[in-house]
Amino acid sequence: MTKPFQLVAGHPVLDLINTLDWRFRETGPEELLNTYDDLLQFSEQSMLLTARQTQRLRKVSPSAADKTLQSTKDLREATSQILYAIMDARTPPIDAIKKLDQHIQKAQANRTLRWSQSRFELSWPNTEADAQLPLWLLAQSAADLLTAEIMQRLRSCDNRECRWLFLDTSKNHTRRWCDMKLCGNRMKARRFKAQHSA
Ligand SMILES: [Zn+2]
Repeated sequence: MTKPFQLVAGHPVLDLINTLDWRFRETGPEELLNTYDDLLQFSEQSMLLTARQTQRLRKVSPSAADKTLQSTKDLREATSQILYAIMDARTPPIDAIKKLDQHIQKAQANRTLRWSQSRFELSWPNTEADAQLPLWLLAQSAADLLTAEIMQRLRSCDNRECRWLFLDTSKNHTRRWCDMKLCGNRMKARRFKAQHSA
C-alpha cells in the first residue's frame, strides 16, 4: 500500500480537490492522483467505497480505468474552479458549473431505485464492477456539498501556496490551517524567522 492520503477537509470532495497538492505554488503543483489505483485508495480511505468494492474495481480494464481517472480529474478541476471563485468572492465560472452539472447528471442517470432492507434507496449497481463508480460517487458528493448549508463553513488554508480547502467546524470558527503540522507550524516558523532576521 502506498502512502495514505491526508484527509483533513471534512468532506470527500474537498479532499479530492486537495489531491492536487500545492495548487498555488510558484514552482507548480504536485499531483497525488496519478493512477486509477490511487483513485480507488482515495475513495476507500474516504469511505465512499468499501474494501470489497475496491477489490472488485481493481480488475476493470486499463482503458476504462484510465478514462475514469481523467474524468475524475475533470470533475475535480471544475469543482475547484467553482469553490476557489467562491473563496475569492468571485462569481463561479459558468463553464465550470456546466461541466460539473454534466458529471452530476451522468452519475444520477446511472442510479437505480432499489428496495433494500425495508426501505427504498437510489444507488449504483453493486453487483457488477463499473470502473466509473468512484467518479459517480464523487459527483454525487459534489452535488450534495454545493447545495448544503455547511458550505457557509468553507475555508481555505492560510498558507498561500497551499490553500487546501476544508470545512471549518471548529467551535469558534477560527480554523486557519489545513493541518497544524502541515502548514500551521511551517507558517509560524517562517513568521518567526522573518521577525528575527529583520
Ligand atoms: Zn495548508
